[in-house]
Amino acid sequence: MNDAAHPQPVTGPSTPSVLQARARRVLAHLDAVLPDVDALYRDLHEHPELSGQEARTAAQVAHRLEAEGYAVSRDVGGHGVVGLLRNGDGPTVLLRGDMDALPVEEKTGLPYASRVRTEDGEPVMHACGHDVHTACLVGTAAVLARSRDAWRGTVMVVGQPAEETLQGAKAMLDDGLYSRFGTPDVVLGQHTAPLPVGTFMHREGVTMMGSAHVRLRLFGRGAHGAQPELSVDPVVLGASVVMRLQTIVSRALSPLEAAVVTVGAFQSGTRANVIPDEALLELTVRTEDAAVQERVLAAIERIAKGEAAASGAPRAPQVEVLNRGPVNRNDPELMRRVRDAHAEWFGRDALVPGVLVTASEDFPFFAQGPEHPVPTAYWFMGITPRKAWEEAPGATPQEKMAHVPGPHSGGYAPDREGSLRGGCESLTVAALVCLHAGDASVDH
Ligand SMILES: [Zn+2]
Ligand SMILES: [Zn+2]
Repeated sequence: MNDAAHPQPVTGPSTPSVLQARARRVLAHLDAVLPDVDALYRDLHEHPELSGQEARTAAQVAHRLEAEGYAVSRDVGGHGVVGLLRNGDGPTVLLRGDMDALPVEEKTGLPYASRVRTEDGEPVMHACGHDVHTACLVGTAAVLARSRDAWRGTVMVVGQPAEETLQGAKAMLDDGLYSRFGTPDVVLGQHTAPLPVGTFMHREGVTMMGSAHVRLRLFGRGAHGAQPELSVDPVVLGASVVMRLQTIVSRALSPLEAAVVTVGAFQSGTRANVIPDEALLELTVRTEDAAVQERVLAAIERIAKGEAAASGAPRAPQVEVLNRGPVNRNDPELMRRVRDAHAEWFGRDALVPGVLVTASEDFPFFAQGPEHPVPTAYWFMGITPRKAWEEAPGATPQEKMAHVPGPHSGGYAPDREGSLRGGCESLTVAALVCLHAGDASVDH
């Protein structure tokens, strides 16, 4: 971490701070860069790729980083791209953008809407705004590369695959991201949100919940539907498990411990007159705290085994934790500095009070340095067109958010110009908070 770039207190637009002056120098290049950022965004939006299949997207990112003078490595942990720009002594700042899309059918009606389908006919859409993240990552990389006299240090640009499956960040780390390219001093990331375009939301400490995906296989004994006495009915067993799982949050946790347990899939049987052999349940678990997650997972296993025993099941259930995403915890000091810098750059009115988001991210894996934790900061950027926001009913942001298209919906359509400009500016300003001032900088 550096100490040369502490943002100054807000002093009003007529007396810009040192950091603002530096940001102005770097972002003076943004107008020249934005047309290509916009072209890249429209191209990515029209050609989305599912998690683990981001070959085309990664190639575009790698090509553009190389053109700006970055030393680029491809295929890091799958289709991950790493671009390094060493620019004198100073901290290493990792800028992360995720690149994958979702199996969602696009319903925005935009001229550059996705019509992509997989070989199985599954629709694919950038319904989580990762195309915005990737385009803004490339734009930020470009303005920093074009203003090397304004900052010192190393910029490590990371195009991450497979965020939606919570696998890509870990895969990149397991493939030697930090051992091959160096452990960064800080990691920065941002995500689109259904807030008004031009607004930003920051939260010190935990900003997103940790998650776990659990699969329960419950074993019964099949029989004729007319002879239940010969069976151990896995449908009834599964139903008991589903109901009992509802007591974890209500009875096993304190009201002050935030958690979600959702049974998103329950599959068993094919015919009315056949009692099946098995039931399969898939659960998602969200918690604000890692220790609470452990307790919830233990409770799930206990309930599944207990209900199976009560049913006289021939075998104990199989309990698999398929993937786990850690809690996304911002370094309070770093987050405060980024938020203050955004307040200065965008104005205090652009900041939305931070709330805990129950969705999850694999971004926090980047905090797991080989020797010590790496401070991370992750914030949300509003992308909802102003008109749509103003027309949405409700008084509070939370009420309005329920009436505008959100992430993972087929109608998620960012205000293009505002989102791309805002996203490039927010990531650049945050990077400058962490990088040292350059020799020819006005920062002295
Ligand atoms: Zn998503
Ligand atoms: Zn996302």
